[in-house]
This record gives sequence, C-alpha cells and structure tokens, in this order.
Amino acid sequence: MGDSILNQQAAIRLASFFLILLAMGIWEALAPRRERRLTRVARWPHNLGIVLFNILLVRALFPMTAVTMAFYAQSRGWGVLSGVPIAPWILVPLCVVVLDLAIYLQHVMFHAVPLLWRFHRMHHADLDFDVTTGARFHPVEILLSMVIKFAVIIVLGPPAIAVLAFEVILNATSMFNHSNARMPLALDAVLRCFLVTPDMHRVHHSVEDDETNSNFGFSLPWWDRLFGTYRAQPRAGHEAMTIGIRGFSEARVCDRLPGMLMIPFKGKVGNYAINRREGEKDE
Ligand SMILES: [Zn+2]
Ligand SMILES: [Zn+2]
Repeated sequence: MGDSILNQQAAIRLASFFLILLAMGIWEALAPRRERRLTRVARWPHNLGIVLFNILLVRALFPMTAVTMAFYAQSRGWGVLSGVPIAPWILVPLCVVVLDLAIYLQHVMFHAVPLLWRFHRMHHADLDFDVTTGARFHPVEILLSMVIKFAVIIVLGPPAIAVLAFEVILNATSMFNHSNARMPLALDAVLRCFLVTPDMHRVHHSVEDDETNSNFGFSLPWWDRLFGTYRAQPRAGHEAMTIGIRGFSEARVCDRLPGMLMIPFKGKVGNYAINRREGEKDE
C-alpha cells in the first residue's frame, strides 16, 4: 500500500491537475461568470508556465515530496498522531482537515507579514480570475509553503495517504474555486456549507482591501466562519467588481512571466493589505 502510493503519487497529482483544468476550462467556456479583461491565449501560457517552473524548482531543491516525508516521519514514529490508535477512516479525514486549517493560517500569514505579502501579491495581481489563477503562485511562496508543509507533517505525523489526499484535494478545490464558472445561486449556497465556491473566493481577489482580507479558505469554508473572516459577496457584485491589486493594472506586469516574477520587488514595503480593514484608498 505504502509503496504503491509513493510510486504513483506524481502520476496521480498530474492526472488530477489536467483533469480539473480540462473540466473547469470547459465549464468556464460554456457558462462564464464574468467577462474576461484579457484573452485566455494571452494569460494561460504565462500562468501555466509558472506552474511548470514551480514543479521543476521543487523537484530540484527538495530531496523528497511531502508524501514521502510523511512516510519517512511515520516510519520513525515522529508526530503527535503517530502510534495513536485511531481507525484509518477517522484518521485520514482528520489529518486532511488539520492540514487544511494549516493552509488557512498560512494564507492569513501571507497577507499579514509585509515581506510575505510581497510574494503572495503575484497570485492576486492576475487581472482575471479563472482556473489558471488557482495554480499561479510565486516560486518563493511555493518554496516557503513546502517548508511549512514539511514542518506540519513532522509535528502531526499524518499517514502518507492523508497527505496525498490533501494535496490532490487542495489542488482540485483551488482550481475549482478560482474558476470563472457560473452556477445557479441555489447550488452555490448549498456547496458553500462544506466547500469554498468560486463566488466565495472571488471576493478575496477584489481590488478592495477589506474584501481581499476575507475568505482566506481554499477547500473548507468553515475556518473563515470560525475566525470571523467570512464575507458573503463583493459590494459591487460579481460582474462589476474589479479583480486584482490597486496600483497593478498593466498586463505586461500582471500577466506576463518576467513582470509577474518581479511583482514582489515593486512598491513600498509598508504597502500591504492586512493592515487595512476599512477599504481606504491608496494615496
Ligand atoms: Zn490571498
Ligand atoms: Zn486565490
């Protein structure tokens, strides 16, 4: 069981990525939620280019994947859950939920710490919001996320299958909840009880600072409700709201590879989002 997970983890992750990309791409084309500012041809090669670059970078710099790390940690009895007699059908979902909470807290931290917000801004600077936005993160944010994930795995001691399930679910939900897909409002309301929907996460990509500082969840919507960061809808409505970051409006910077990679190094260091809860304007 353990060996087959380790051998097939890359194939499982890759297959799921392309399947969700295809499914959401078709949904966006058939039932778009908003009009696009840029064409897909103009954005997708750059957003997917950064995804490919990040995969190669992580492979080159990390001696093992998070799933292999979990396997290694468990075999040495590391982590608070290791050796605790819990049935797998409870343990695996429990670990997925705890890892999702860790991702929520990490996301809040990337908004709260000015230096981290600089790197996370690349994700927010996309002028449109679609399935590829859900996978575009600055390489430095990806590397820091890996380090944090390894630390959480060492402290928690989750089964390798739980880490693989968490990674596949997170990737799938991130691409789903960033998609420009229209769905009946009644369906959105039902899904929102247990899954972050595109309408819920789109609020987080608003150019308005107080809206950016809400809906940090990626898979489970419960953390935002629990910690008071939930916001149901954008003030301007989903069609009229502006996506992105104030002060970043050029496609050359926001949606072309060299410009995107340089976003962390632009602007003042104090110019970050979480210290603004009232939606005030930049000077
Ligand atoms: Zn964010
Ligand atoms: Zn996002």
